[in-house]
Amino acid sequence: MVRIGIAMLQGARHEHHEAIKNAAFEMNETVEVIELRKASQLDGTIDGLILPGGESTTMRIASKSEALLDGIFKWMIDFPNKPVLGTCAGAIILANPGGKRKPFIEVEIARNAWGRQRFSFEASVKVSILTPEIRQQANLELSRDRFNHKPLPMTNNLLSKTNDLFPGVFIRAPRFGTHSNDCVVVATLEAETVGVLQNNKLALTFHPELTSDRRFHRWLISQIITKNS
Ligand code: GLN
Repeated sequence: MVRIGIAMLQGARHEHHEAIKNAAFEMNETVEVIELRKASQLDGTIDGLILPGGESTTMRIASKSEALLDGIFKWMIDFPNKPVLGTCAGAIILANPGGKRKPFIEVEIARNAWGRQRFSFEASVKVSILTPEIRQQANLELSRDRFNHKPLPMTNNLLSKTNDLFPGVFIRAPRFGTHSNDCVVVATLEAETVGVLQNNKLALTFHPELTSDRRFHRWLISQIITKNS
């Protein structure tokens, strides 16, 4: 059984929950999703993490009451090889955890660097870490959570037809700057770096959970399965 924690501070967390469940279904794997709300939920039984996109300042403020981010940072230090997927604001938190903390991914990141909300856009991203599996569409019925929230329906029209392209949804996205030699660029939008991998931690400036393409979520699950087997 694979156990994946999702930081439930703010942002597209329910969409990530849905996406990872769909990815597990497509892979015929059983994944338990742990909705993380307080630091004490983080321990060695969690195999991987998702840090959703949203608003990083709001997330840092929301984290204060239960110290969730501190718990996540400690978990990433205690288990440096466990995989983490950080999208958009999640990428900001990985690259710039704040305070005196060292970055978990050594890449410069500038918030809101494409401009205001109305300059958000969709574009095909070139990716290099997604295995060329044939993708099955799970098409699961979107369920309501205990707060009666229903995830947004995923956009099918963004699905890419080839294996090295991914439908990128950029919402008031950050931009990466220079990175250390330990980072690998795994996603690009023309000359722009939009995905960086360092030691099993993957930071994307776009939102894969807002599409029906589950390959990044499948990547996260596959990292855990290969390690555990
Ligand atoms: N602009 C947000 C921030 O600075 C990130 C945007 C997003 O996650 N879609 O945190």
